[in-house]
Amino acid sequence: MTEPLLEISGLRTGFDTYDGRVRAVDGVDLTVHAGKTLCVVGESGCGKSVTARSILRLVEAPGSIDAGTITWHGGDAPFDVLSLDVKDERLARLRGGDIGMIFQEPMASLLPLRTIGAQLIETIRIHTGLDKRAARAKAVDLLGQVGIPKPHERIDAYPFQLSGGMCQRVMIAIALCADPSLLIADEPTTALDVTTQARILDLIRTLQAEHRMAVMFITHDLGVVAELADEVAVMYLGRVVERAGVDELFADPKHPYTKALLASVPVLGRDRGRDLPTIPGAVPNPLHRPSGCSFHPRCAEAIAGTCDVVAPPEVDFDAGTGFADRRTVECVLYADREGAPA
Ligand code: SF4
Repeated sequence: MTEPLLEISGLRTGFDTYDGRVRAVDGVDLTVHAGKTLCVVGESGCGKSVTARSILRLVEAPGSIDAGTITWHGGDAPFDVLSLDVKDERLARLRGGDIGMIFQEPMASLLPLRTIGAQLIETIRIHTGLDKRAARAKAVDLLGQVGIPKPHERIDAYPFQLSGGMCQRVMIAIALCADPSLLIADEPTTALDVTTQARILDLIRTLQAEHRMAVMFITHDLGVVAELADEVAVMYLGRVVERAGVDELFADPKHPYTKALLASVPVLGRDRGRDLPTIPGAVPNPLHRPSGCSFHPRCAEAIAGTCDVVAPPEVDFDAGTGFADRRTVECVLYADREGAPA
């Protein structure tokens, strides 16, 4: 087990709406370990991206962080990111320095009227103090590392002159320019075709090995999880409902939501000619959370009179021989096993 780099505990983030406060993240506990990959999975609207943005305090009004701690262990002494003043230099160092972030939509994240070189060089200079010439040389080198052909020419291109895959590579280069200890990648391949997606995943794996970074990878794609993860956290309606090492999760999923997600992944050769199972309904509006277990209206194993009444406990299981230090499931089906090994 490697040491924790980032520990999130009891995180709650909400948004004010005309109809009331939406609890997008509702008591999340997560740990990212140095040099390892944590994949956070779940359907759209489960709170994955809001969790990631909360780490860097990037939640904007009408949203705000209501409770919790986010402890960064990557410096000389650990500190709670949420307790920092917005002008604290440790927060500035985290954003784009110790923690790099890749957002979902590269075209929307790059400034259209500035060359990619100008955007890269500015970030490099802010975080490294290099002069303009040295920063440009580093920018060319980074563009080469992320697989941009002829980087010394492409550095002067505008985002609209590049494909979506190329723009995503530029975003990765920007995220890496200060040699971060943690890379947060928020569905970085969602808008890309499968070939480009495979190349980007290869690139992240290679760069992680070279830079010895931790990665927090947010996705709804379980194929991506199987390829990249050391540890997995499954989120549903703002909570982590199952967490486990990747091998344990795929070999023996415990939460009915995890089981349903895995059952809906097609298997080559096995699923020919049959309809894939789906999870009925949709993620409920967080303003109108179901009583008891919030998954109960969609759960195939729900127990009437229990699951719609009682909030499920978090049950600890033996973490097994894999990487993860904890294996937990939030479900009443395992309540009688609380504290007992699996
Ligand atoms: Fe399903 Fe009940 Fe477990 Fe919720 S607590 S996941 S409804 S069995």
